[in-house]
Amino acid sequence: MTDSGQTRANTHSEPDAHGASEELLRSAVEQGLPRTIADLSRLVRIPSVSWAAFDPAHVAASADAVASLVRDLGVFESVTIRQATIPGSDILGQPAVLATRAARNGRPTILLYAHHDVQPPGKDEEWESNPFEPTVRGDRLYGRGAADDKAGVMAHIASIRALIEAEGPDFDLGLALFIEGEEEFGSRSFAAFLEDNHDALRADAIVVADSINWDIDTPALTVGLRGNVTFRLTVRTLAHASHSGMFGGAVPDAMLAMIRLLATLHNDDGSVAVEGLTGHDQVTPEYSEEQLRDEAALLPGVTPIGNGPLLGRIWSQPSITVTGIDAPSVANASNTLAPSISVRISARIAPGQAAADARIALEKHVRENAPFGAHIEIDDVDTGEPFLVDASGWAVTEVRDAMRDAWGTAPVDMGIGGSIPFIADLVRVFPDAQILVTGVEDQDSRAHSPNESLHLGVFKRAILTEALLLGRLNRRSGH
Ligand SMILES: [Zn+2]
Repeated sequence: MTDSGQTRANTHSEPDAHGASEELLRSAVEQGLPRTIADLSRLVRIPSVSWAAFDPAHVAASADAVASLVRDLGVFESVTIRQATIPGSDILGQPAVLATRAARNGRPTILLYAHHDVQPPGKDEEWESNPFEPTVRGDRLYGRGAADDKAGVMAHIASIRALIEAEGPDFDLGLALFIEGEEEFGSRSFAAFLEDNHDALRADAIVVADSINWDIDTPALTVGLRGNVTFRLTVRTLAHASHSGMFGGAVPDAMLAMIRLLATLHNDDGSVAVEGLTGHDQVTPEYSEEQLRDEAALLPGVTPIGNGPLLGRIWSQPSITVTGIDAPSVANASNTLAPSISVRISARIAPGQAAADARIALEKHVRENAPFGAHIEIDDVDTGEPFLVDASGWAVTEVRDAMRDAWGTAPVDMGIGGSIPFIADLVRVFPDAQILVTGVEDQDSRAHSPNESLHLGVFKRAILTEALLLGRLNRRSGH
């Protein structure tokens, strides 16, 4: 098919042909939508919950169904279902679908990621319709996985169908498709899977279709995710407990030392006071205090904490929370000077700072601020890397343009206060790939909750975005 390939390459250097191809992509997405929704509905009917207590046969059936949709595309050189071993065990992770097609004529290769497993449905009586019987009400398709993330799976498949429609099956773009089967159960074999299939997954850009849009009319590119450092902190002041009436007032109990130490973690306005924990500047959309009060259920009279724009505090500044405490309970309180107290510290760290550096800063702060010479112990440390997209990459520009053209409005650069842990693995294993975090969800999708749903207009625009992106990368040289 070299001849037709050359003919196309020549034709496509004409701007008119380019415009015509984009028109074909648009109509292919539009006309393909009923079939895409039907295929999505078939996937939603498979209860592919990846948690250990659920039947793995459903996840296997779901992998089979995805693989057969991918095989039917007819443009991949290889389509396989694979599992990787969970590190530190001999247990296999849940099955993923992996498909590859080599790039030709100097075109880039793009890796499309989504996951086909789902969260447990939760209580059936909280669902307005059966979680595994996809149901359309108004503009939305309801069902477990209808949005997170079987719609991400179908966005990839539908955009490849549109590309085939517009360009024929002989296009030059390199493609890899990785549809994971255990994202909702902690992606335990994800890093091993990346190592095992390193060559098949290697790409110039990676589209992670598992995030959210700003609203149903406005797309978003997720450009930052906070990381985390959590640890147990123990403070000791006495070798054994004593009666508070005997020595109280002359010796410090561990509770007093802990309270004073924890109080040094924040400034008076509630912002983080730990030297060496950094934030980064990000322009954030308008978000009012009323909206924050409403969404976070702030009680009347209680003020927000921190400073600067509200979303910046959540997306691009560190935060520290004490999430647990081992101390005598109120019911068992006696007049005793406690010799030791432990707490769990959970710090969210801003995009742009390495988790190891944040950990050092926190440990230094705690040791230097221990009052009364109290003994400090830190253990049970857990860290997760934050993510900050490199906005200067060509693929970032391409996906932003595709979003603008598909939605008719420019995308919002979004941050997320939490994390998508597997993205740190992608960054580590493929440091040169540009990672584009997109998605099919909106603020009402209720992923992980009862009545999860997909907005069908958002779905169409997300597919068109990806179709335009693939079409343009298929013509792109010099990446
Ligand atoms: Zn997801």
